[in-house]
Amino acid sequence: MAMEAEAAPVRLRLGLSAPTRLHPALPATCSRALVSGVPVRLVTAGVDERSGVDSIGTIPAAVTAWAASQQGTPRVLVSAGTAGGLDSAGARIGDLYLTHGPVVFHDRRIPLGGFARYGVGSFPSLDCTSLAAELGLKTAVFTSGDSLDLAPADERAMGSSGACVKDMESAAVAYVAHRLGVPFVGFRAITDLIDGPHHVADEFARNLAAASARLADAFPRVLGGLAAILPGRPG
Ligand code: SAH
Repeated sequence: MAMEAEAAPVRLRLGLSAPTRLHPALPATCSRALVSGVPVRLVTAGVDERSGVDSIGTIPAAVTAWAASQQGTPRVLVSAGTAGGLDSAGARIGDLYLTHGPVVFHDRRIPLGGFARYGVGSFPSLDCTSLAAELGLKTAVFTSGDSLDLAPADERAMGSSGACVKDMESAAVAYVAHRLGVPFVGFRAITDLIDGPHHVADEFARNLAAASARLADAFPRVLGGLAAILPGRPG
């Protein structure tokens, strides 16, 4: 997870330990628990010492996911938190989404032959169709980039990929999961509608607490469902 405001309610809800430092060279944190017999580690990218805010975005997400994965043998990597949603594709504030299909980037424009495809990324996610139906969650294509706003070119990229959920970490963690051959799942609560009438940053700030609470409430059911469908044994 990227933001402490997103992670804190999940720690409480899952009964996770107090966060400790994940790695000496990173501000990232790690807390642990056994949730219904399944070992769970919640890792955040931590606070950026220079600016004093959460280390959101793709670079800390990838480095943190990599460092955490080297300290164990994860059965799944989940990128969880909040996201912007497309009103025109049916997203509503507070909706909970699991990933559907490949996870892409919307702001890596490299019109140089094969680099164009490289820029989009397109890393696989675990098929969560039945799990989402069982839990009453929505599914969508997730797209990531390093800006909160939506530049016209980013919007066009979202149109091409059919993405409906926009965040700043999922594709980076999906890349790490893909490199490691570990299933990836994105799990996000919608805080703002990127094509809606409100200013995205204001809407995000207004809905952050409520959306994070909804995410935390659904977390035990999502983890239980994942434990049931994932290959391999807990460990
Ligand atoms: N302005 C906020 C910064 C949050 S950035 C603050 O001052 O605290 C948004 C975070 O929530 C990122 O980690 C991202 O993954 C997610 N997010 C929520 N809405 C988003 C949107 N519309 N676009 C991109 N990321 C979004």
